[in-house]
Formats: sequence, structure tokens, C-alpha cells
Amino acid sequence: MARATYRICTLPGDGIGPEIMAEGKKVLAAVGTRANVDFVCEDHLIGGAAIDATEGTENPTALPEETLLSARASDAVLLAAVGGPKWTNTDAGKPRPEQGLLAIRKGLGLYLNLRPVRMFDALREASPLRPELLEGVDLVIVRELTGGLYFGEHRRERDVEGAGVGGGKGGFASDTMEYSEYEVDRVVRWAFEAARRRRGVVHSVDKANVLETSRMWREITHAIAAEYPDVRAEDLYVDNAAMQLVANPAQFDVIVTENTFGDILSDEASMLTGSLGMLASASLGSGTALYEPSHGSAPDIAGKGIANPLAQILSVELMLRHSFQMDDEADWIVSAVRSALDDGWRTADIADDATPADHVLGTVAMGDKVVEYL
Ligand code: NAD
Repeated sequence: MARATYRICTLPGDGIGPEIMAEGKKVLAAVGTRANVDFVCEDHLIGGAAIDATEGTENPTALPEETLLSARASDAVLLAAVGGPKWTNTDAGKPRPEQGLLAIRKGLGLYLNLRPVRMFDALREASPLRPELLEGVDLVIVRELTGGLYFGEHRRERDVEGAGVGGGKGGFASDTMEYSEYEVDRVVRWAFEAARRRRGVVHSVDKANVLETSRMWREITHAIAAEYPDVRAEDLYVDNAAMQLVANPAQFDVIVTENTFGDILSDEASMLTGSLGMLASASLGSGTALYEPSHGSAPDIAGKGIANPLAQILSVELMLRHSFQMDDEADWIVSAVRSALDDGWRTADIADDATPADHVLGTVAMGDKVVEYL
């Protein structure tokens, strides 16, 4: 059988980005060798690195055209992180690294963000929650990414009659939350499909007792649920969902929700694991999918060789699963990470007083360790 080849647009970005990307690629290459698949990675610029490279040109930018073209032509995009103090003090007219992220998501038509939250038993003590609450936590948050409040009309007026304190003139602001049926349908449908491949439960989170967008969301969800009799579907108000996530997180399998609610709930859920260095995310849509760690560029530890590469490595896991339908190979990565942690290997951010000094690894050594356990 011909050997499969996949082209991956790799975007190391800034700060610890290049260090953790190297480990992601190392694990990907090891999986490729074992699975008889060629993963051809091609590095491109994004974020501060792109701003530096295009400075002084006609169009200084955090997302050069050739990066977007390569991303579109690739089978998947693997991103590390962007940003850093070097680029934060620029004036409003200058490009900022984070604009590269928004632009690539838009340019690839990525309308759905996926953040799995999975407990590694060896790291239970790192969570702010009591260990017994974390038994069996394995959930995924599916967030609508390109609609709702963040993309509706934003308006600001000054000196509006009656808006001031005491009834005089004052400021007025409004943000509009909008959804079209197709935007809801494609995300909710994806959540039901995902639940079918997992434990078969979808919680749809809304605020249907107050918001019209939520009432439409609920109607669409109920219609889709009728097509999936094998999936248990539940509605949950967002305030209750926020509470349930810390009170009983193990009840959840797939949580699907709109943009703003998803933004907040996915950060809350990420704290269940207690460790930012362990969480990966995927953005999916009409174009090439993009995979990245949930954390930023950690400029405080950049260049020191101590960054935790596991979120980047678990982004590779998501890429295998969702872009290449290589579920078995994706499982190899999860097992390798789990085994390394079970045997006590840690990077500094997830080590504690009980970790022997010779088990605290740097970025490269942790990447090597995962490859060893593959
Ligand atoms: P951050 O996630 O970069 O860092 C927060 C803290 O977590 C820091 O103490 C950092 O050292 C630590 N940390 C993060 N990742 C780690 C890892 N893999 N291993 C060990 N420790 C890790 O968030 P921040 O400090 O708020 O932001 C730094 C820069 O990153 C900013 O410029 C911000 O805009 C940018 N950022 C980028 C993304 C992205 O690229 N998707 C996301 C968030 C923030």
C-alpha cells in the first residue's frame, strides 16, 4: 500500500513557541515512523516573529499572506503560541501578535473550537478541586467561535440625554448578540456526532429563560437531538453549568455552547486539571483545521529550556484524531503521556515537593520521554 503523506503548516510563533513546537514535531515524526505515514512539516511565520520579519516593509503584519496561503494548502495547521512584551508597547497603528491569531482563524473559516479536559490521575493533586471530585473527568467543550456577542455590532455614544448619573447627559454602550440558524446547526450537529464517538451525552448550555438567541439555540438543538436517539441530550442554563462544572464535573461528556458562554466555561473547565501546560485545543471549520496549546507564549520562561511541551504534544494528538482520523495513533500519544506522568516524570510547572530532583525534566527531555513511551 502506498505510504500516506500529510502536509502540515507549522507555526512556532514566539516565546516558548519554537521550543515546544520542536517537541511536538519530534513526537509526530515518531508516530509517523511507527504508523508508516509521512508528516511533512513546513515552518511559517506568525505573531511577533512575523511582525519582526515584515517590519520596514510596506505591509508589516502578524500574518503574512504566504503563511495564510500555506495554511490553506496544507492538511492541518499546528500552532505553538504568539505574543510577548516586545510587541505589547506598540502604538494603536502598529500590528500586534494576537492579530495574527484572529486573522488566521478568520482566513481558514474556523467556526468551532474544541477543548478537551481530561484528568491525568498522576496530576490530581495539582487541581484546586478535591481529588474525589475529579474521578472520571473526561469532557470536551465545543464552543461556537465566529458568531454571537463578539461579532455583533458594538456601539458607543457619549453625551446621551438621560444616560448620565442623576439623569443628565452621559455615556451609552451596546453590544449585539446575533445568531443565524446555520451557525448554530453546524456546531450542535458536530457536538452530537462527537458524543456518538464518546460516551453519548450532550449538554447544551444556554440562557433560554432570558435570551432570544438562546431560545432559537434550544429549538435547533431539540430538532437535532431527535435525529440522534442514541445520544442523551440535556439543556442547562449557563449559570447552572458554571456551578455544575465544579460541583460534579464527571457528569459531563460533550458540552456545546455559544461563543461567549464557551469562552468563559472553557477557561473554568481548564482549571479542573490545575495545569495550563497540559491543555490542547482544536479549531475546526470549513477550511484547514488548526491545533494549538491553550496557553500563551510564556515569555517569562522563554529560552530557558524548561517549558512544558505536553499541551503541544496533545495538540498533535487532536490533529491525528480530527484531521487524519488516526484515532489509534492519537491514543498512543495519550497513553505515552499518561505513562510518563505515572512514572513520575515532570516538567517544573507540574512538579511538586514530592517530585525527586532527578525526575524534573526540561522541555527536550520531556519530549524524548514521551517518544520513549510511545
Ligand atoms: P501564558 O499562558 O503565556 O503564561 C501564563 C503562566 O503560565 C506563565 O507563568 C507561564 O510561564 C506559564 N506557562 C504557560 N505555558 C507554559 C508551559 N507550556 N510550560 C510551563 N509554564 C507555562 O499567558 P500570559 O503570560 O498571560 O501571556 C503571555 C503572552 O502570550 C502574551 O503576549 C499573550 O497575549 C500571549 N497569549 C497567546 C496565546 C496564544 O498564542 N494562543 C494565548 C494566551 C496568551
